[in-house]
Amino acid sequence: MSSLNSTYDVLLVGGGAIGLSLAWELSQHGAKVGLVDQGPLGQEASWAGAGMIPAGPRKDFWAESTPMEQLASLSQTLHAEWHDRLAELTGIDNGYQQSGALYLAESEADAKSLDRQAEHWQRQGIECQPLDAGQLAKVEPGLAERANRFSAAYLVPQESQLRNPRHVQALIAACLQQGVDMRPGIAVHGFESTDGQIVSAQTSGGTIQAEQFCLTAGCWTGQLAASLGLDLPIKPIRGQIVLLNGPVGLLGRHVNVGKRYLLPRLDGRLLVGSTMEDVGFLKQNTATATAELLSFAASLLPSTAELPIETSWSGLRPATADGLPLMGRLPQLKNGWIAAGHFRAGLQLSPATAVVMRALMLGKTPEVDVAWLGCSR
Ligand SMILES: Cc1cc2nc3c(=O)[nH]c(=O)nc-3n(C[C@H](O)[C@H](O)[C@H](O)COP(=O)(O)OP(=O)(O)OC[C@H]3O[C@@H](n4cnc5c(N)ncnc54)[C@H](O)[C@@H]3O)c2cc1C
Repeated sequence: MSSLNSTYDVLLVGGGAIGLSLAWELSQHGAKVGLVDQGPLGQEASWAGAGMIPAGPRKDFWAESTPMEQLASLSQTLHAEWHDRLAELTGIDNGYQQSGALYLAESEADAKSLDRQAEHWQRQGIECQPLDAGQLAKVEPGLAERANRFSAAYLVPQESQLRNPRHVQALIAACLQQGVDMRPGIAVHGFESTDGQIVSAQTSGGTIQAEQFCLTAGCWTGQLAASLGLDLPIKPIRGQIVLLNGPVGLLGRHVNVGKRYLLPRLDGRLLVGSTMEDVGFLKQNTATATAELLSFAASLLPSTAELPIETSWSGLRPATADGLPLMGRLPQLKNGWIAAGHFRAGLQLSPATAVVMRALMLGKTPEVDVAWLGCSR
């Protein structure tokens, strides 16, 4: 490893899925990249997330899609490509698979909004099939006992999932191969800037210089921006997950009911998620949320009540005021960038974020126009 006073083309602050994906992408385009993280790499929200990858619109529907939807579409393509490339380069299979998803509504009001969502999917070329109770029981036999209780049900076959802890390990290995200088355990406390230009980052390990700097620090990014005199609030929204150890094949695809979900892994593990809690930077599991999640699981799949709990965890989603990420140049700084605030979709959108940010930072026109996601909105 080189010494901490190295000069990089780009210094990334934060090594979650967003920072690591961008580091990999920039390094493959010839940039000398440094990346620091105040903790171990990839152990915060990007480890804690469930790894669901909702489907995006088909490319021929982009003209009617928002930039967020275009990012989802681009990510869907990239996730499949990155899975293959990362496995080939690193030997790590991130578990990406198109497992499909069910969306269920429990009340008439929820059914109406799900029907509207389904119309929107269809307008965007995203396949979705309405299911009556009989069809639902056939598609997902585990739900047969309760299939009558839903006011609406849709199958979205193109939804995917990945094992995000493996994905970040694959990204770390790929970054190492590309010569990215990664420094876990180094916190950035502030920056030195003159004439609208960041000169260096002040870190717990000394000063680091770079030509360009990008804030990829998840829910901590607002604090870093504040150290540059910028008001870009991003707050943590806690999500708790309980992991059950079930038999293989208990469910074939993930099941969404409002903001709650059951996500089956191929090895039989079943993630039960999640909560949305505005409790600051407090990462812990609570008895109430654990009980609620388990009761939700048993209400869909009664047999889960008898399954062993393998573990539980919580993570902090990075949330902006409008729920959309901040991507682009930092205000009033020629060489400062931000890619943060991806809230509930950071794993999903990480490859497209990396590709778009790499283009912007290297002076190219990105595939998706993300001006709308900039800091001035
Ligand atoms: C329970 C839960 C379920 C989720 N499910 C999904 C899902 O199914 N699909 C999906 O797409 N998304 C999901 N998400 C959201 C997703 O996990 C996040 O949007 C995403 O991981 C954010 O990535 P990030 O790299 O921006 O942040 P993080 O992964 O939090 O990484 C930020 C990094 O910055 C570092 N850092 C912070 N401050 C500093 C500093 N001053 N100096 C140096 N380093 C610093 C941190 O240590 C951390 O490693 C979920 C999240 C949770 C909590």
